[in-house]
Parts: sequence; C-alpha cells; structure tokens
Amino acid sequence: MGKAGVMPRAKAEVAIQEGRVSLDGQVEREPFAPVRPGVEVRVDGRVVQLSAPLHALMFHKPAGLVVHGSDPEGVGTVFEHLYAKLPASLGSFEWLAVGRLDRDTTGLLLFTNDERLVRHGTSPERHLAKRYVAGVEGSPGEDALRSLREGLVLEDGPTRPASARLRAPDIVELTLTEGRHHQVKRMLAAVGHPVRTLHREAVGGVTLDVPEGTWRLLEDDEVSQGL
Ligand code: URA
Repeated sequence: MGKAGVMPRAKAEVAIQEGRVSLDGQVEREPFAPVRPGVEVRVDGRVVQLSAPLHALMFHKPAGLVVHGSDPEGVGTVFEHLYAKLPASLGSFEWLAVGRLDRDTTGLLLFTNDERLVRHGTSPERHLAKRYVAGVEGSPGEDALRSLREGLVLEDGPTRPASARLRAPDIVELTLTEGRHHQVKRMLAAVGHPVRTLHREAVGGVTLDVPEGTWRLLEDDEVSQGL
C-alpha cells in the first residue's frame, strides 16, 4: 500500500502488522502480499483507493537483450525495448522485471509495476514451475534425463527434482521449480549436453502466447497463477 500511494510505506507496514488492513474482508498481515486489481482494501474498516493501478504483463524476450537497468556494453535492455512498444498510458509506470533471463535466452519474461508482485513472483519458497526448452549438443540418453529429473549436484548445491523429456533428439523440455543463476545451462552441461539455445515457455500457469518482441497485459487469474 505504501507503493500504491495509500499511505507512507512505513505507516502501511505498521498498519498491516497491527492487523488493521483487510483485503476483500480478510485481515492481511503480510506487508509484501500482492494487492490484486479489483480487491477491496480497507484500513481501520474504511475503504481506500489505490492511487496507482497495478498491472502485470508478459513480454516475449528476443535474444540479445539484457534484463538489467544498466547496459555498459550498449547491447540494449529489455526495458528500452518494452518502453518503446508500450502506449503512453502504460509507459508512465515503472515496470519491474520478475526475475531474469540470460541475454541469449528468449521467451517469457513477466513485468509488473507492483514491487510486491516481484517479491512474490521470485520468492524461492514458492517453487513456482518454469518450463524451458533447450536445444543442446548431442542427444541426452535416459541416464542424463533421469539425473535431470532426480536432481544433480551443482557447485551451489543439489537441484530439486524436475521434469525432463526429449521433444526431439537434441531438444530438451525441462521444468524447474527453482531459479538459480544459469541453472538450466549448468544442469545440462553437468549431464554432458551443453545448451546451444534456450527458450522459456511458461511460468506457473502463464504460457507465452505473443510473438517475439511483443507484449500483452495479463488477466487477473494469470497474475495469481504466474506471480
Ligand atoms: N537458466 C539459464 O541457464 N538461463 C536462463 O536464462 C534461465 C534459466
């Protein structure tokens, strides 16, 4: 609510912790809980209006763009690309990327103007499923697929069980419920099949369905399923 302009952030956090805030009649005690569009927010029993409409969108990231605010190499950022395509009514928001994709990775990247949705959507405890399709060197056999599924040990620890199957001899569909740095590339390299191309198709219940380089707003139910 601090972000939504109802009251200063520190006051909003105290009001939430004191149980004075309800969302659709339910007391909310989590300061970073997302407030979905259309939800009735009450503070001390009074309905308050959120001043900034909260939005989320999907963007089909092309290869070659970085998901960083800064761009020292001048290669182009997803933010520049997205803002150039948004209408003025949406371009005035501060869009935040929900997680990251590597520069050479294509596919589904979610954005929101709600900081709490970013925290929620990237929280490691939620184990939100993310589906990737990787073009790899060679053709993974059953042993490699089993290691990907059951978990393998990377330098930052064991991976969680995943789902893995071949779509073609050198195309692996891998669904992870965690999102460590370069995880797909590291897992496939660890089983002897380095990644040549990487694409993300889905996050939670949200499946990419717009052409490369374009975006669309998410429906409310998609916001609950993907963030
Ligand atoms: N895993 C990777 O290795 N790279 C990405 O961009 C996303 C997941």
